[in-house]
Amino acid sequence: MTYVVTESCIDFRDTSCVVVCPVQAFRLGEKMVYIDPDICIDCNACISECPVDAIFPDHELSGEELKWISINKIQSKLYPIIKFKIN
Ligand code: SF4
Repeated sequence: MTYVVTESCIDFRDTSCVVVCPVQAFRLGEKMVYIDPDICIDCNACISECPVDAIFPDHELSGEELKWISINKIQSKLYPIIKFKIN
């Protein structure tokens, strides 16, 4: 399992989520953040921090939303770790 950042984060990128992540699983993309599924330990800490409800456990996604699992997996490998809130 992993947690996944979805569409609501685009152009919002609040980044409150990154501060509570105990394993620094978040990556800073150009328009949103991504979670590296190889790092996330499914602790659930980030969900309540997101003001736009963009983060979900992968098993709660369905239909069109499922694409965000592979988007996070791929994009998280392209961008740097983000540890601190930037917005
Ligand atoms: S569920 Fe926990 S480990 Fe995974 S990204 Fe969120 S805060 Fe980090």
